[in-house]
Amino acid sequence: TYVVNEKCIKCKYTDCVEVCPVDCFYEGENMLVIHPDECIDCGVCEPECPVDAIKPDTESGLEKWLELNRKFSESWPNITSKKDALPDADAHKDESEKFQKYFS
Ligand code: SF4
Repeated sequence: TYVVNEKCIKCKYTDCVEVCPVDCFYEGENMLVIHPDECIDCGVCEPECPVDAIKPDTESGLEKWLELNRKFSESWPNITSKKDALPDADAHKDESEKFQKYFS
């Protein structure tokens, strides 16, 4: 599966949802997640993200993010169309430690 990581927090550009053939993105207040059981590993979303927030879970260090994607994709609503990014997305796109600062 592919997973959405910390870089999405406070940005949520949503370019990824337009290209997903199985509509497996789910939307929270501050970020998107991918449902790991619905993702078919096609990889087309990865290059669409302007902040590089989507990676295959075969990359190291993504265990926490895989669990977070799994957990929240069960309760957040499905998102299938691109919408405006969060208002301060550009100001937050290169920020570090976004999980600690903003994720609730
Ligand atoms: Fe959707 Fe493909 Fe990205 Fe999985 S890898 S979330 S199926 S676009």
